[in-house]
Amino acid sequence: MHGNPLAAAESLRFHRCTFCTTPVQAIAELCPACGSDRLTVERSSGVGRVHRALKATSARGAEPSLPVVVELVEGFRIRSWLDGLLPGAAPVGTPVRFVGYARAAGGARDPRFALNG
Ligand SMILES: [Zn+2]
Repeated sequence: MHGNPLAAAESLRFHRCTFCTTPVQAIAELCPACGSDRLTVERSSGVGRVHRALKATSARGAEPSLPVVVELVEGFRIRSWLDGLLPGAAPVGTPVRFVGYARAAGGARDPRFALNG
């Protein structure tokens, strides 16, 4: 599982509050801990664990894909997708890693993860 060109080309970024150092997901505009808008962009290692499994709302093409909340080792959480997995295949605590973005409807970019290990 080494040398994934997608992982090399794209990185997962997050914000860190410069006032209280709380890590927050990159879509946040204010620090949820202290309300500061002084957020800096940092690059995540992309390594984390499944924090919560979400209920799949719709099929995403032919590939099975499992919606989950991932908690990264830096301490922030994001909604994402686990590729190639069916519900129940990745319980809470399963180690995962960022593999790249999938383009979603409306031009949004969905972070995608895969099992790590
Ligand atoms: Zn803060």
